[in-house]
Amino acid sequence: QKPGLELAVVSVPSYACQRHTPLLHHNITLTDALSILAENAELGENEGRGVAFRRAAALLKSLPQEVRGAEQLRGLPCLGEHSLRVIKEVLEDGVSLEVETTTHSEQFKAMKALTGIFGVGAKTADRWFREGIHTPSDLQRSGHTLNRAQRAGLQYYDELNLPVTKSEAVAIGQIVERAVHAVLPGAEITLIGGFRRGKQTGHDVDFLITHPDEGREEGLMPKVVSWLEAQGFLLYQKTTGNSYLESKEGPARPASNMDRFERCFSIFRLNPHTHSDSPHPLPQTLVVVAVRVDLVVSPYSQFAFALLGWTGSKLFERELRRWAVHEKAMTLSSHALYDRKRYLRASSEEEIFAHLGLEYIPPCDRNA
Ligand code: ATP
Ligand code: MN
Ligand code: MN
Repeated sequence: QKPGLELAVVSVPSYACQRHTPLLHHNITLTDALSILAENAELGENEGRGVAFRRAAALLKSLPQEVRGAEQLRGLPCLGEHSLRVIKEVLEDGVSLEVETTTHSEQFKAMKALTGIFGVGAKTADRWFREGIHTPSDLQRSGHTLNRAQRAGLQYYDELNLPVTKSEAVAIGQIVERAVHAVLPGAEITLIGGFRRGKQTGHDVDFLITHPDEGREEGLMPKVVSWLEAQGFLLYQKTTGNSYLESKEGPARPASNMDRFERCFSIFRLNPHTHSDSPHPLPQTLVVVAVRVDLVVSPYSQFAFALLGWTGSKLFERELRRWAVHEKAMTLSSHALYDRKRYLRASSEEEIFAHLGLEYIPPCDRNA
């Protein structure tokens, strides 16, 4: 006899930004299956389909208990026909044929391997796949002309595909802090992205940098990068300047979901050599040579929006923006929140949630 409780009686809200989604949840088997299909859709550049699977997975992550039978799902939001079919299959047979077929497909494996190269997106990977290139070694042998990011991605492929640990993130944080304080004392550095949400590993480490005196942060990134380069910490970096226009009415309204902060996508070197001044050098076996690091600089007045926008998860961010537009007729970006023409100020994430009429969700519960 299966437990008869229908989870729907708990009344689950339909936007992920209305729910608490912890890192550890009760439905891993189901969410793993749906994530494979989401990933496959994204690699095939079918964004809508990818989002549908991601929303279904996020719903399951937020449930307070394990789903044991499909009857428990009656009335729950976010579960489309396709997702429900996959869930039922996994509940009944332990696996889904579609998920198994996808996992073992040559195309899926190749696309994952190729987009796993830093600097390679789905479009490029697909073009190469159709030329018969399935692995990074195939690409190496092909003699294709690669851009600077892709050359670095190929060179450090193995290291960059190892998960970054929390202690490595902390070590990199200390280096970033030294660099930033060397060029701008009083600047504040915050760990963002997955590690701020409580993840123990990540594909990269993300930092947000600001200074309480608005304006002092301008042009900071090139100086930080020079310092890091001079110390031999950077294997690769690409810095983009701030392209954000500000007027008297507040920051410019977002043109797209991409933000325009001064930023740096980089590859750090973490090795015994760079730790030689440390009294407790890391054991050789724990040392990762190459780590992806993202640095973002925000003016102090936009800090709360940048913090909220760069903490993720990606689906949580997407849901926040969807909530703002569809439920509140507002526009949210990593720079600002607008109620039609009116700029809404905020100096904390709590204030932004309040402006949006949402209960505050802490970073550890944004793992949608
Ligand atoms: P992981 O552990 O895999 O790194 P993550 O959640 O930290 O997980 P990231 O890809 O590092 O994933 O992204 C962190 C956050 O930064 C995301 O929530 C995303 O919204 C934001 N972000 C990433 N890239 C951009 C970008 N180009 N423009 C705006 N925001 C971005
Ligand atoms: Mn990250
Ligand atoms: Mn990142």
